[in-house]
Amino acid sequence: MEKNINPEPFKIKMVEPLRFTTRAEREKLIVEAGYNCFNLKAEDVYIDLLTDSGVSAMSQAQWAALLLGDESYAGSRSFYRLKETVTAITGFEYVLPVHQGRGAEHIFTEMMVKPGDLIPGNMHFDTTRGHLALKGGRPLDLVIEEGLCPEVVHPFKGNLDITKLESILKEYGPEKVPFILITVTCNSNGGQPVSMENIKAAAKLASQYRVPLFFDMARFAENCFFIKEREAGYQDKEIIEIAREMFSYGDGCLMSSKKDGLVNIGGFIALKDQSLYQQAAQLSIIYEGFPTYGGMAGRDMEALAVGLKEAMEIPYLRHRTGQVAQLVSQLEKAGVPVVVPAGGHAVYLDAKKFFPHIPQEEFPGIALVVALYVESGIRATELGSCAFAEKDAGTGETIYPRLELVRLAIPRRVYTNTHLEFVANSIIKVFQNRHQYKGFKMVYEPPVLRHFTCRFEPL
Ligand SMILES: *Cc1c(COP(=O)(O)O)cnc(C)c1O
Repeated sequence: MEKNINPEPFKIKMVEPLRFTTRAEREKLIVEAGYNCFNLKAEDVYIDLLTDSGVSAMSQAQWAALLLGDESYAGSRSFYRLKETVTAITGFEYVLPVHQGRGAEHIFTEMMVKPGDLIPGNMHFDTTRGHLALKGGRPLDLVIEEGLCPEVVHPFKGNLDITKLESILKEYGPEKVPFILITVTCNSNGGQPVSMENIKAAAKLASQYRVPLFFDMARFAENCFFIKEREAGYQDKEIIEIAREMFSYGDGCLMSSKKDGLVNIGGFIALKDQSLYQQAAQLSIIYEGFPTYGGMAGRDMEALAVGLKEAMEIPYLRHRTGQVAQLVSQLEKAGVPVVVPAGGHAVYLDAKKFFPHIPQEEFPGIALVVALYVESGIRATELGSCAFAEKDAGTGETIYPRLELVRLAIPRRVYTNTHLEFVANSIIKVFQNRHQYKGFKMVYEPPVLRHFTCRFEPL
């Protein structure tokens, strides 16, 4: 079969109708939303690429598993089914369910972080960073330089800079560095993978300096698939074998199952050490729930146990990463500035290059997000001067982020290749008419996390 056709490895049994809106309707709706797509009703969106989190389509096996849910408060059969699956994938004996990834972060940072600690990683996810900072810790992003350059091609742009890691460990040691956290794939720079060689090198340093190593494994299956495709020696291995090797270099992991769990909510912590698990279980009782459900329904644990296995199936992973890669390649061919190489879960447009005539203080990323919605009913996310600009504490001056990106996150098993072709064509059309678009000014700004609720007016 021709590779670039990328046929879906599933057929459709149940459909969710999508609503077409007219351009005139969308022009009205975006004004009502204050030109912020977070304020739109999902029903008014044709293709929703806001996130890949919690928006996966479950399989028939997962829907069937829901009916097997054991809702017992303690010792639920569904918990044991989940635990067995997680242990089979990670090798970690102790499994604690949580309501979603940030529930795991809450418990884990409460146990592990004290004020003044440094926490090195490749790039910490936003909520992880928030939890580390809440406990007085300092998150350190040590991703390799290539990982921060949108136009540089490198097979593992999520890798940690091992030299930087060693200098931190040497200077501060286990007293100040409670753990290293590797995020697979590296969400914050585009779902870029981390190589096994890099993980091994980090693990060697971790053991040399007696600092434990943990994984944020939200997209572990996508990371393992990239290792299989790109790293010598892994071509003939199953995803679960690669996962087992990867986790064998660590002491535990945190999971948001809204990603590679292929479910809509949930997560877990998995640990090697029994006494650490006992502490975590105590905290779980206060924050999440009894340790055999931790904020998840029995039926959700059943669906997750099935989803974790499906997420490691090669035809699924090939199609999923293929959809992302194909969208990137179509855009590249049309000259659209896009981050390369394609990551695992999303396509990132470089809004600064897309709209060179719109300066950063006029939000080129917002201009692009608004254009995509008004032209085609597509919802994307700005990751640029709206989401990330900071005020200098001294001068009060705005510090703009280095990158001005727009993210199109691809939900798992939800959209067909035709939907994504429509997305590509819509972006290309906006790009061809790029000179007619203008910037925005912010007219309402909440005190924290402004990008979720702020409002704009066109200039
Ligand atoms: C989504 C995500 C989280 C947080 O998980 P939630 O389930 O949204 O709370 C943590 N780390 C990474 C890498 C993520 O992508």
